Amino acid sequence: MSRWMCVLMLATIGCVASIPDDATLTADLAVETAIVLVAVPDILPDDEPKPGDTCPNCEGRGYVGDGKVRVPCQPCGGGGKVK
Ligand SMILES: [Zn+2]
Repeated sequence: MSRWMCVLMLATIGCVASIPDDATLTADLAVETAIVLVAVPDILPDDEPKPGDTCPNCEGRGYVGDGKVRVPCQPCGGGGKVK
């Protein structure tokens, strides 16, 4: 299990605790939470990246963050390339 899955599970658990009995809404909130955690909004991809391309989420760095806080890039798993 990856660290990313742990984050998703924690986010989902938190949402389930506050918003019961709506799996779709819970999933949406989990995804939104996840995006907030890892994504840089300015460089969200417009189209579907191909395997081997430079990761659009981290621009090939393998992590996202402001230079002080670094979070491993989840779309590419920290490799800087689209899986
Ligand atoms: Zn990446």
